[in-house]
Order: sequence, then structure tokens, then C-alpha cells
Amino acid sequence: MAERAAVAGEGSDGSTWAILVAAGSGERLGADRPKAFVTLGDRVLLAESLERLDASAWIDAIIVAVSADWEEAAIVLAEDLVASKVAAVVAGGATRAESVRAALEEVPDDALVVIVHDAARPLVDDGVLERVLAPLAEGYDGVVPGLPLADTVKRVEGGLVAETVDRSALVTVQTPQAFTAAALRAAYRGDGPIDATDCASLVEARGGRIRVVDGDVRLLKITTAADLALVESWL
Ligand code: C5P
Repeated sequence: MAERAAVAGEGSDGSTWAILVAAGSGERLGADRPKAFVTLGDRVLLAESLERLDASAWIDAIIVAVSADWEEAAIVLAEDLVASKVAAVVAGGATRAESVRAALEEVPDDALVVIVHDAARPLVDDGVLERVLAPLAEGYDGVVPGLPLADTVKRVEGGLVAETVDRSALVTVQTPQAFTAAALRAAYRGDGPIDATDCASLVEARGGRIRVVDGDVRLLKITTAADLALVESWL
């Protein structure tokens, strides 16, 4: 069930919507609360990406997915930040993909483009938003930021190296990821259990064409306390 934010920019006729997924647990951080609500600098982690997306001229409206029972806290945060593009706050699901699907239900039919971003990557900026949005006009179904691998990569079976993989063709993929609304909706159609570590893989599975553009090391996903300290040092 979606809760409407009092600050909602409801009725926005903009065509680029952002989904901010923030419904993950804080377990790997050892936190007693969802990761989105741990402290980063002098405020909660969610504040950083929410404020940045809200301030971006590339984004018309935002749907936030948070852990069940944290919707009110997210609405209060959006009000405090005067994040006027927040159109709805929804309860996320058991997996990241289910959280995306819950948020996607709140994206209006006339949206043309949907950007999905992990709140766990606080330092989203206009540079990467522009990089993922620009190629959509060239006919891709989606665009993702990727980083080359620094280390040698090996495939391991039963503790033994089966193969050293050519890393030159590999990237690690981050968010924000941009999609045509039609491709993203098709990828999330249905209501059965759904799991995937990113949205692009679901679009790929349906034959979608995904373009890779430059990522940014500062889009590090906060998983551990050390990640939190590192991103804090970049604020
Ligand atoms: O768990 P992980 O950090 O890989 O999650 C990536 C992003 O997906 C995070 O921003 C997290 O809040 C979000 N997520 C979610 N719902 C889940 C699991 C993760 O919104 N059930």
C-alpha cells in the first residue's frame, strides 16, 4: 500500500521518474535499523540520494521504497528536505526486485523514462544521470553505469581454478540505471516472486538492449561499516 507524501508533487506531468530503492536491511552493517536509516555524516543515509535526485533537473518525480513501517519516517524526511518531487513512499518487498516492482506500480502510465537507483549509493550526481539518460534517445531499452575490473578474475569450481576469465570484456555494474518505461514495466510484469541483483538483468532476459556507460567509483554501494566510513570521507 502506498502512502502519499504530504509534500507530494502529485500531478507532475514530467516524463522522467526516479525509483529510489531503500528497503534493504541493515544486517551486514550490524545496524539495528534498515540501512537507509543509518547515519551518514550528520543525517540518515537516505537523505543524501533523496536530496540529490530531488535537486536534479533530469528528474521530474520520485517514488521511494522503504522497509515496512518506515514509510512515515521517509515522508517526514522528504518534508524536512523539502524534497518536493517525492510523489509516493511505498513499502518495499522481500527482494530488491520486489521493492522496484512495488514502486513501479506508482509510476503513472504516461511516464516515458524510469531511473532506478539504490539508496545504498548515496553519491549520485548529475554527471552519471546525464550519462545514463542520453543514450536512451538512440533506441536502447536501458543504460547502466559500469566500471572496469582492476583485479584478475578466475572462475572457481570446488575450490579449484577452472578458468582465468578475460577481464577486458567485463564490467561491474552500478546504479542509477535508466530504462524506457515500457521496457522496465515489461520486465517486472506479473506478481510472482522476483529476484535479480539489478533491473537491467530482467530487461536483458526479455531480449532488451542495454548500453553501458562510464560508472564512478564514488557510486560505491554501502554494504559494510568500512564502506560507510569511506563514503562519509567523500562527503
Ligand atoms: O542489499 P543491497 O545493498 O544489495 O541492496 C541494494 C539496494 O536495494 C539498496 O539501496 C537497498 O535498500 C535496496 N533493497 C530494497 N529492498 C530489498 C533489498 C534491497 O529496496 N528487499
